Amino acid sequence: APLVLTHFLDRAVALYGDKPAMICSGRTVTYRQLGERVRRLANGLRELGVRKGERVAYLAPNTLEMLEGFYGVFEVGGVMVPLNTRLKPDDYVFILNHSETKVLFVDQELYGLIAPVKNKLETVEEIIVHHKTEAAIDETAYDEWLAAQSSAPVPRPMIDENDICSLLYTSGTTGNPKGVMLTHRNNYLHALVTMHHLRVSDRDTYLHVLPMFHVNGWGAPFYYTANGATQIGLRKVDPKIIFELVKEHQVTVMHMAPTVLTMLLQYYEQYQPDVPEGVRIVIAGSAPPPAFVARVEEKLDWEFIQVYGMTESSPLSTISLIRPQLDGLPVEQKQRLKAKAGYPMIGCEVKVVDENGDEVPHNGRAIGEVIVRSHGVMKGYWKNEEATAATIRDGWLYTGDMATVDEYGHIDIVDRKKDIIISGGENISSIEVEGALYEHPAVLEAAVIAAPHEKWGETPHAFVVVRPGHNVTEEELIAFSREKLAHFKAITGVTFVDELPKTASGKIQKVHLRRQYWDAVG
Ligand code: ATP
Ligand code: MG
Repeated sequence: APLVLTHFLDRAVALYGDKPAMICSGRTVTYRQLGERVRRLANGLRELGVRKGERVAYLAPNTLEMLEGFYGVFEVGGVMVPLNTRLKPDDYVFILNHSETKVLFVDQELYGLIAPVKNKLETVEEIIVHHKTEAAIDETAYDEWLAAQSSAPVPRPMIDENDICSLLYTSGTTGNPKGVMLTHRNNYLHALVTMHHLRVSDRDTYLHVLPMFHVNGWGAPFYYTANGATQIGLRKVDPKIIFELVKEHQVTVMHMAPTVLTMLLQYYEQYQPDVPEGVRIVIAGSAPPPAFVARVEEKLDWEFIQVYGMTESSPLSTISLIRPQLDGLPVEQKQRLKAKAGYPMIGCEVKVVDENGDEVPHNGRAIGEVIVRSHGVMKGYWKNEEATAATIRDGWLYTGDMATVDEYGHIDIVDRKKDIIISGGENISSIEVEGALYEHPAVLEAAVIAAPHEKWGETPHAFVVVRPGHNVTEEELIAFSREKLAHFKAITGVTFVDELPKTASGKIQKVHLRRQYWDAVG
């Protein structure tokens, strides 16, 4: 059988029909009911004229409607375009027009982001709002529309495993977001490999903390559905709500960004909520400080697992879970290893290479670019052959991430290639310099970029947001960084700002800071 994603829900309906598939906002839907709702949705999409290969977009938080959207779209051979809920109206115009989306589903609470730009949408023929509200009175209401559709099985078009099933736009940290074309095969094999490494089974209850619209949360509807695990929806990332749901549903696994884990830890330290033991916490998207691992394991008694990936590789390529072979290492050393991006997952060839394409020595010091060859590597960027050719070379995905490799084969992401500072021939990780600045009590946020330097070529320059109620001068911060770091890594200048430019997912856009710096120096 071809590796097509519709199989995952078929399997869950057949084996786990009476089991809760999704519990969201007090409502429970079994796998059999989910299957029926998906058939109705697919019949509705066919009625609307959605044919194989055509794009259907979703703008929604982690709800039942979002989950069933995945399978409804695949059922008709469509291409899912999930939209980040934290973008600006004009960003949606760009993505919806660029992807030539035909039908758009919108959560009622997010309709206000689309209403003001409706007339700029060039290809969208139908907007369907998940629940009727005053503001969206003119649009089709999903509940009624779905109930009116036939629940008879839909004649599926021939879907090949190499057909595109999704267009996911990258976060836009380093420039404009790019549309990443992933195939059924990409996502199918990625799901098999991930469920193996994360030990997913029908005994799991998964809380959707990471948004399904972002590639890091995007895979969950595949691996948890395929295994008949119960999934818990979440409309808003709030530590109190998360702890309540974890307890109420005896959640066994959650995926989240390090910033959310910080919120959970702070909440836990303050309120000591009652929590089940052994919850698996999968950290995705960026690297947490090593001290985190200890706090999670010692305070919460939860299992900490870090993963690394990018939209272009479906996304995951490495995992930090300690292999049984390394179980005998001292606890602190294991925690240091867990804080790194980790070692290659099955089916992923991961190398860290220098400028000549040679692998850097595995000594935890030499820095090179991470390149990946795997089942997850995208078909290419949508309508951007130039960027595709620059990113996938000889079958290898050039990630643009710089890393070291240690003697155990674990990689540690040190910086983005575009952000690394080359001073007097030495590579300086902007992240390491930021880490030193964060130790200063007056520093609320810091971002370090390369500034041109006559003698050294480049030198680290910091953009700093000062913590309210504190004062600090440029000279003090320069001296502080010289105390904390090797002198060649210390900052040589500071620009104080009120806030740093960020993507919708909270990543700092240094590309804008570099531009700001250049504008300032002329
Ligand atoms: P754009 O490509 O549009 O500039 P982006 O690269 O931020 O945006 P994503 O695909 O969402 O878009 O993010 C992937 C990037 O996130 C990786 O290339 C890497 O820089 C970073 N990342 C992901 N996981 C980790 C991790 N575990 N540790 C450190 N960095 C990580
Ligand atoms: Mg990227």
